[in-house]
Amino acid sequence: MRPLIERLKSKFDTDDFRIEALETHDLSTIDHACGTGIKMMVIDPDFNARPCPMLMCKLGNVIDEPLMAVVRKTNTLMKGVSTPCEATCGQCSNFSACRGYIAAALTNRDSTSNCLWFEMQEKRIQRLLDVVA
Ligand code: SF4
Repeated sequence: MRPLIERLKSKFDTDDFRIEALETHDLSTIDHACGTGIKMMVIDPDFNARPCPMLMCKLGNVIDEPLMAVVRKTNTLMKGVSTPCEATCGQCSNFSACRGYIAAALTNRDSTSNCLWFEMQEKRIQRLLDVVA
């Protein structure tokens, strides 16, 4: 995998668009807003692009499609999806787990009878769920 990462780095890495191995990613830069599919995207060992390490949904394969086409598709799917925040989730017992993380919210939404975040994001997040289905 290292040679691929180095090849992608040499071709695409800029100050605004970083290519790096997940295990070397500086998690301190995430700042409670995961950026699923907008600020970050993961390419797995089978070259499938996923919006987040915690989401198994495949949004493309960088062998079959140009990397930037997959990035644009992922950005479009996730555009406008907000992360769980105090205003929507402050009263929920799952808030500490979901706060700022879309993947955690998608995982935890079924454990509460009323996931206000999902109600508010449903139309936007449905585009992602349709791709995953
Ligand atoms: S389960 Fe839903 S309402 Fe509760 S904190 Fe998570 S996203 Fe917010």
